[in-house]
Amino acid sequence: MSRHNQEKQKNRKPTRFLRLIILEIVVLIALFGSYRLYLSMKAQDQSGPKNNSQQSDTDSKGPKDEDSKNEDPKDAENVLTPEEIAAQEEQERLQKEITHRQEIIAGADQLALGYDYDGAINFIKEYKSSEGNYQVYPELSDAVSRLEKEKGTLLQLGGSYDSVTKINHIFFHSLIADNSKAFDGDGDSRGYNMYMATVSEFNKIIQKMYEDNYVLVNISDLTKKVTLEDGSTEYQEGDIYLREGKKPFVISVDDVCYYEYMDQDGFSSRIVLDENGAPTCEMILDDGTKVNGLFDVVPILDAFVKEHPDFSYRGAKGLLALTGYEGILGYRTNDPKSPTYDEDVKQVTEVAKALKADGWEFASHGWGHKNLQEIDLAFLKRDTNRWLKEVAPLIGGSDVLVFPFGVDFETTLGTYSSDKYHFLKKSGFNVFLGVYSKPWMHIKKDYVRMTRRPIDGQAMIEYPERLMDLFNPRDVLDPDRPKRNW
Ligand SMILES: [Zn+2]
Repeated sequence: MSRHNQEKQKNRKPTRFLRLIILEIVVLIALFGSYRLYLSMKAQDQSGPKNNSQQSDTDSKGPKDEDSKNEDPKDAENVLTPEEIAAQEEQERLQKEITHRQEIIAGADQLALGYDYDGAINFIKEYKSSEGNYQVYPELSDAVSRLEKEKGTLLQLGGSYDSVTKINHIFFHSLIADNSKAFDGDGDSRGYNMYMATVSEFNKIIQKMYEDNYVLVNISDLTKKVTLEDGSTEYQEGDIYLREGKKPFVISVDDVCYYEYMDQDGFSSRIVLDENGAPTCEMILDDGTKVNGLFDVVPILDAFVKEHPDFSYRGAKGLLALTGYEGILGYRTNDPKSPTYDEDVKQVTEVAKALKADGWEFASHGWGHKNLQEIDLAFLKRDTNRWLKEVAPLIGGSDVLVFPFGVDFETTLGTYSSDKYHFLKKSGFNVFLGVYSKPWMHIKKDYVRMTRRPIDGQAMIEYPERLMDLFNPRDVLDPDRPKRNW
């Protein structure tokens, strides 16, 4: 039997071999055919319009999971049904909404950092989606409860003072940005040494005050005008709610006009708007090139508050006191005959608008920078009217008067009653600012009177002990300053 079988098997071998060859050919044909089919389908997809219904049903696995995002979008399109695409779009929409809500919470937190809890809470409460309002979303309603709780812990004046009349108001003049030019020994050097601070000193002062929990507030935050039952109005202390331990204070800057005598002396030349429309300072270099930068209080404080939002109460910055006799903010708007008058007026109006939007406020510093006690009423009227006509329209008006040389029009420590007062009041001024070494303020029915502490070379070199509650002048004084020369 074995032999017979062996024979048989021997005879069969070629047949089996043949079958294998045929099988291989069939497989090859099948493979080639499917490759051709694949090529033709690919060509169809690339040329003709997409026909999703042709796509295989075997791929439908319900809504695509997260991994599908990592696939080549072209491939994903090829395999998705309309339902899947809709599901994917819905998924993306939901993800966008989540991101948007996170951004809203971050924006609200930023407002709260600057003590604007009402603004922060409203910002969240304004949220609406197709599903409903903020209450539908736990992350939003949680944020509202958290902010409301924080708001409840705020204290009037941070608990640091029992009255706004005790808060500090400090003032500067334009800062010296180039010490070598300001202190070059020419005729103006002495005045700069006495009445100005340098950029480096200003930076150290605000850093120190920030570390000591001071918070910028605007002059307009200090008081509010309240209408009484009899219809009359009176000034009352304003509401300034801060986190515990914070200390509100006001900064003002006098004579932000970049007068001609300061040319070539290391000061800014103008306040201009940068490419983003934000106020900055322009400086003219020796070769006439104009550069923008942090050369004075405005852009320095703006940058500082941007970095430290908790240094500013609801975006407050400072008060800029303007004369008029050489125009304002470096624009010679005092001379209608100037060839650039129209352009200057247009530009400075834009700059003033941007400054106000940025948290800055304006004051009159008298048109001609005259000692208001020495000039008579007729002179005061001419000077004031000229400021109201030439300067007020450029800045949108102001009811704050910063006394030139810090000299009040009245010497009384009681209530103003002079003709000068009645004229100024009738001209729209309600807030009157003088100079004194300590905080002092009167809030009367019809007006507010406050003094400011000078921060300059004279104060830091001659009377350092007067500033010790704010900072130690020894730690601040610029080594480039000449010795006391007055
Ligand atoms: Zn002045």
